[in-house]
Formats: sequence, C-alpha cells, structure tokens
Amino acid sequence: MSKVKTRFAPSPTGRMHVGNLRTALYAYLIAKHENGTFMLRIEDTDQERLVEGAVDIIYRTLEKTGLIHDEGPDKDKGCGPYVQSERQKAGIYMEYAKKLIEKGEAYYCFCDKERLESLRQEIAGKEIVVYDKHCLHLSKEEVEAKLAAGVPFVIRQNVPQEGTTSFVDEIYGKIEVPNAELDDMILIKSDGFPTYNFANVVDDHLMGITHVVRGNEYLSSAPKYNRLYDAFGWEVPVYVHCPLITNEDHKKLSKRSGHSSYEDLLEQGFVSEAIVNYVALLGWCPEDNREIFSLEELVEAFDYHNMSKSPAVFDIQKLRWMNGEYLKAMDDDLFYEKALPYLKKAVTKEVDLRKIAAMVKTRIEVFPDIAGLVDFFEEVPEYDVSIYTHKKMKTNPQGSLEVLKDLLPLLEAQEDYSNDALFALLKGYISEKGYKNGYVLWPARIAVSGKEMTPAGATEIMEVLGKEESINRVRNAVAKLEAALS
Ligand code: GLU
Repeated sequence: MSKVKTRFAPSPTGRMHVGNLRTALYAYLIAKHENGTFMLRIEDTDQERLVEGAVDIIYRTLEKTGLIHDEGPDKDKGCGPYVQSERQKAGIYMEYAKKLIEKGEAYYCFCDKERLESLRQEIAGKEIVVYDKHCLHLSKEEVEAKLAAGVPFVIRQNVPQEGTTSFVDEIYGKIEVPNAELDDMILIKSDGFPTYNFANVVDDHLMGITHVVRGNEYLSSAPKYNRLYDAFGWEVPVYVHCPLITNEDHKKLSKRSGHSSYEDLLEQGFVSEAIVNYVALLGWCPEDNREIFSLEELVEAFDYHNMSKSPAVFDIQKLRWMNGEYLKAMDDDLFYEKALPYLKKAVTKEVDLRKIAAMVKTRIEVFPDIAGLVDFFEEVPEYDVSIYTHKKMKTNPQGSLEVLKDLLPLLEAQEDYSNDALFALLKGYISEKGYKNGYVLWPARIAVSGKEMTPAGATEIMEVLGKEESINRVRNAVAKLEAALS
C-alpha cells in the first residue's frame, strides 16, 4: 500500500469547533501512526461563509495543539495550490467538471430560481428540492447556444435513477443507497466555484489522499462521492467518518453550549494538552481504557479501528478532571507562569505569589478556580464565628478565643515568620498546654483566613502574609470573638 496521507480541510468560518479539532487530530494521528503525511487544505469555496481572520485561527490552533502539518499552503510539496479559491482561479475544478460532462456523468443546468422553486416538495415533513433532470435532455446545440448567450449555469452530477450505490466506511461499514435517493447534486455553482461535494473529491484525488477523515455529517453524501471517483476512474480512498459529538443533553454540540470551540476552552482556563487529550477520547477508546495521553503517546496508541460509531458526549466535568491532572503534573515554573495572571487578579497585595501558586497547584481543575481558593489573602471575608466550632477538633468560639489570646503575644515576640519556625512555635505552645494539634491549628487558620477550607495550613498562610498582617488578623479575630461572646 502507498504511504498514508491524510488531510485536514477546514473552512475558514470562525473559531475552531471541537468537532473540527477532533477531525484534525484523528487525521493527524492516522497519518503519524503510520509515519505518513498530514496535509492542510483550506476550503474557502463557500464565499458567503468566510470570516476574516479565520485562516489565522486555523494556523494558530494547529501550531498550539502540536498538530503540525507536513504539507499545506505554507509548505508546498508539489500538490499546490492548497487553497481552494486559488485552485478555482487556476481552473482546476472546471477542467474536471468538463471531463465528467464529456463522459455523460455531469451536465450543464440553466434552470432559474423560479423553476427550481417550483420543484420544491415535501418529503417526510421536510421541504426539499429534487432536481428533475430537466437540463439533462438539452441537445448539444441548445447547450452551446445558452453558453454563448451567457445564460447563468451550474454543473450537476448525473446520477442514474435506477440501481443502487454503495460504499464502505471503516467505522460505519458498508452502506448502500438506492440511486433514486441521490439527487443530481451541483458540482460547479453559478458563481463558478465548486461545491464542497465536488472539490473534495477532485482535490483528495489530485493530492494523493489515502484516508479521508471527516465528520459524519458527510456520511450521507459519500455514495455520491463514490460515483464521482468511479466516473473519473479513480481509486476510492479509505473513508473514516467520525461520530457526532453531543452535549450533556445528547444534542449536537453547538455554540450555545459555551464551550464548543478550542478558543472557548482556552479562555475558560483549560490547557491545550488537556483539551487535545480529551478530544482524542471523543469517539475513540484504547483497548486498555487508559485516559491520559500526550500527543506522542496518542500517535503510538491510536488505531482508528477502535473508533466508535455512537455519538460521543462532551462532558465538561470530565475535561475539568483531566485538566486538573495536567496541572498537577505540570512543571512548577510553568504552572506559576500560567497561573500568574489569575493570581494577580485575585491577590493584589505584595505577597509571594509563587508560594500561593504552590498551594493551589494540586487543588484546582482550571485556572479560574484559583480566585475562589486564594481570595482570603487579599482580605478576610465576612464569616460567622460558628465556624470556630469543629466537632472533631473539639473547638468552639469560647475555647478559640482563649487560644488566640494566648497566641497573640507569642506571635508578636516571634521574629522568624517562616512556616517551619511558626509551626515550631505553635507546636511548642500546644505541647506546653497539652492540647491536641487541631484545637490550636483550627482556630489559628480561621483567624488568618476567615475560612474553614484553605489550600494551606495556618502557619503556611502566615508565612505568606508576614508578621504584621498575621498579627492584625489574629487581633481582629479576637475582637470578633469577644464581641460575639459578650
Ligand atoms: N471543509 C469541510 C468542513 O470544514 C471539510 C470536510 C472534510 O474534511 O472533508 O467541514
């Protein structure tokens, strides 16, 4: 078999939808798993859907996710141009459409809007236009006269009305459809641009694509593509259609879900590696059910024969979990760098943010979780003294008040505010009094944080706050408890 070559063929219509990213990833993995070639082609033939800047998004996303193409508009390896509008200008599609016309596999159609409207019919509750092959019956002379007169036209595929067409998809198996259900789809539009349906076949063939990987919204059109390959006498590529991706309600993942694109997810604080890892599992599962994979490991493990045909549910909670695993495993310096904007937003005080970063690293799933964990460094939140009561620690507001009053002079006399020194100080007091650790550490932590749950213990927090602020907070806590108990 020839060397595997796949392509990612996005239309530059906006952000990179999760489904598109998955297609790109699977195409990349299928090629790289076999040491093959991964190509990029820009499909911009639908001029109305083009969005400015979208091509940049495509390049940026491929680079950020590590799905590096071997060939494409910026890396010409002899199959160019790689942008469909440029190919159209070069006359490639028209040339091939004419070849089909000569073979009787396609024909010019001059029907105007009104006539096409009159063909509108309702089938199974859906309004559709099934073309009636009206123009197939024009004579050669009639066609030439209309062309010479400049009558607008499209070129349609000529599908026989009898018989069946079948094709084989690697994931969905053999699919057979009656030809009567395949309408004479447009290959070249009236603006001279090819439709996706035509351009993808011509380009995939001319560019030597061996495995066509794409979303399953194209599955129903695949028989028509097969007819085109056959009409040209070209070898049909291996089809790998990827299953639908749905939201938690089993509806097609759409913009409305708020996390349907790669960029949305980055903005929500997910890291690129976790997104790629998670997206890989939307429709594929390794035999051993392992879940955490780097891109290199995916290349090694990915076997498209293990892909699923049932819809994959995009579970944001699962992605959050996975992202948390990536954060835990991240190099400390890199974590600090990425967390810094979130830390700076939450804590404007002049404290050592690096220490706070270390406290939260294993406790968050996404960066925006940081704010809720570290807000108390900025300011002790309002709290009720009832949180000094802890059954297991045997603490209550009264006992806590006594402990904190004892601690104040010790903290004032203490010079070294490192965690170790402070911890030794508190331990000394604890053993002198014969208390249990929690009896002292619980109120101390609440006093400096105002919270029952913090990402670090009392003395670690004090180390970050420093002497003055720590003492202030303990003093305020004493005052608060006294007021509540009086
Ligand atoms: N341009 C098509 C899209 O963005 C690509 C489909 C394909 O991969 O063939 O949906």
